[in-house]
This record gives sequence, C-alpha cells and structure tokens, in this order.
Amino acid sequence: MLYNHVLVAVDLIEECRSVADHAVTLAKALDARLTLLHVVEPLAMAYGGDVPMDLSMLQQQQFEQAKEKMQVFAGDYALPDDQLQIAFGHPRQEIHRVANEQACDLIVVGSHGRHGLALLLGSTANDVLHGAPCDVIAVRLGKKDKPKK
Ligand code: AMP
Repeated sequence: MLYNHVLVAVDLIEECRSVADHAVTLAKALDARLTLLHVVEPLAMAYGGDVPMDLSMLQQQQFEQAKEKMQVFAGDYALPDDQLQIAFGHPRQEIHRVANEQACDLIVVGSHGRHGLALLLGSTANDVLHGAPCDVIAVRLGKKDKPKK
C-alpha cells in the first residue's frame, strides 16, 4: 500500500475544512487509516512565554473548547473518537511526535502558499516539512477558482 496511516493536522477554522476533505478522500482512496490532529498552543507561547500569572485554568478551558470544536469539525466525517486527537504544545513538535508515535506515513497540512516577507516569517506547513518523519502534502488554501473557458 502507498500509505497506511494519514495524519491530518487541523487548526479547526473553517478554512481548514478543505484540508480535512482532501485527507479524508485520500485516505479512503488508499484504504488507509486517518487520524485528525489539533494542537492547542500554550497561552504562554502566544504571549511570548513570559506571563506572570497562573494560566492552568485557562489552558484547561482552552483544551475543553478544542475538544468540543474537534467533535463539531469532525462530525461530517463520521470518524470514531480514537481517530481524533488533541495535543498540547508547539504544532510542529506535536505533529511530528504524533506521526512518529502512531507510525503515520503521510502528514497532510494546509498551506497559504506565502511568498516574500510572509514566507520569511514562516508557516506551519514549512515548519512541519522540516524534519518530518514521513512524507508531507501541503494542500493549498485560499485557492481562487480557475476561470472557466
Ligand atoms: P498556518 O501556517 O498557521 O496558516 O497553518 C497552516 C496549516 O497548518 C493549517 O491549515 C493546518 O493544517 C496546520 N495547523 C496550523 N495550526 C495548527 C494547529 N494548532 N493544530 C494542527 N494543525 C495546525
């Protein structure tokens, strides 16, 4: 089989649905297992790592909200709970960790096809590609429909 286990990383915003659709279709066509992963980023990371207060309660809430959002997001695909995963940490590290731990052989992420300064600033897709333990597909986000001939 070309790929046995596809890991799709989703940030749970509507834009990411095309990434999940792509991965679901691909996994079906390949008769591969599919795991949907969302990574909750620590609040301290979002605020530069130096926050002088206890964020554990907020982070627990963040985690619970992510679980609910994941259930709604994944609802359309009728995936069992053991194919939905929430991790806590840095997206690149967590996506690589889960891919390694679950012996995934393909990672699917979305990509905005950034260029210029935005490219220098980096993206999750670029980040995931570097040091990835397996093949990576970047699904182009925000594609404009091609004009009909
Ligand atoms: P970005 O570069 O942040 O616009 O994200 C591009 C893609 O990376 C998204 O479409 C997702 O596939 C993936 N991604 C970004 N953030 C996360 C996250 N917190 N958890 C899982 N996947 C993510």
